[in-house]
Amino acid sequence: THFGFREVPESEKDGLVAGVFHSVAGKYDLMNDLMSLGAHRLWKQFATEASGVRGGFRVLDVAGGTGDMAAKFALRVGRRGQVVIADINSSMLEVGRGRLADQGFAGNVDFVQANAENLPFPENYFDRVSIAFGLRNVTHIDRALASMFRVLKPGGALLVLEFSRPVVPGLNQLYDAYSFNVLPWLGRVVARDEGSYRYLAESIRKHPDQETLKGMMERAGFERVQYFNLTGGIVALHKGYKY
Ligand code: SAM
Repeated sequence: THFGFREVPESEKDGLVAGVFHSVAGKYDLMNDLMSLGAHRLWKQFATEASGVRGGFRVLDVAGGTGDMAAKFALRVGRRGQVVIADINSSMLEVGRGRLADQGFAGNVDFVQANAENLPFPENYFDRVSIAFGLRNVTHIDRALASMFRVLKPGGALLVLEFSRPVVPGLNQLYDAYSFNVLPWLGRVVARDEGSYRYLAESIRKHPDQETLKGMMERAGFERVQYFNLTGGIVALHKGYKY
C-alpha cells in the first residue's frame, strides 16, 4: 500500500480511502493514541460535552469507525435513546463492533455500512449528528453536509470534529515537520504501513480551514455555526443547527 495520493483522480478517492482504512483498522486505536499522544481522547471528550446529547436523544455518528464517539453518546442517551454508527468501511465497523461489545454496549449501538454522502436514514430523524475525523476523508464534502442536514430533525445539531489550521504562531512549522516525518515513521514501524500515514498528513493539509468549513456548513443550510479551536487549532470543533 504505497501510493502518491496527489496523483490519484478524484473519482478514485472512495476506493483509495477504503484501502487505507482496511489496512489500518486493526492498529487504528493504538495509532491514534501514539500519533496524538493521547490528545484525541480529550478532543472527543470536548466534542461530547459540547454536543448537548442527553437522555432519549437519537444520535448518528457518521464515519464512526471504531466507536469512540458512539460509546460516549450511548452513556448519555440512556435506554430510551438510540445511537447509530455509520461507516463506509466494513473492517472499521468490525473492530468497532467487537470493541463496543467488550465495553458492554452490545445492544445499545447499531452499526450501518453507509457512505456519508448518501445516508440511508429517514429525513428529520436524529437529534444530533456527529462526524469525528471523518469529513476529511469523504470525496464530496458538500454532499456529505447535505446528507447529514437531511437526516437531522429541525432543532437538531451537527458536530464536526476535524483537523484544522494551527492558529498559534510557529506551531505550523513544527506541526508540518511532525506530520511529514514522525507520522509516516510511526506508520512504518507500528502499523507496517507508511503510505496510509502519509495519506493522513496530506489529507489534513488539503482539508478546508476553520472559516472555510464554517462557510460550507452555512451553504448546506446550517445556522448559528460556530467553532472552537482545540490544541491551538490543530483540531477544530464546528457546531451548527438545522431549523
Ligand atoms: N470517528 C472515528 C474516530 O474519531 O476515531 C474514526 C475516524 S477515521 C480517521 C475515519 C473514518 O471515516 C474511517 O472509519 C473510514 O472508514 C470512514 N470513512 C471514510 N470515508 C467515508 C465515507 N465517505 N462515508 C462514511 N465513512 C467514511
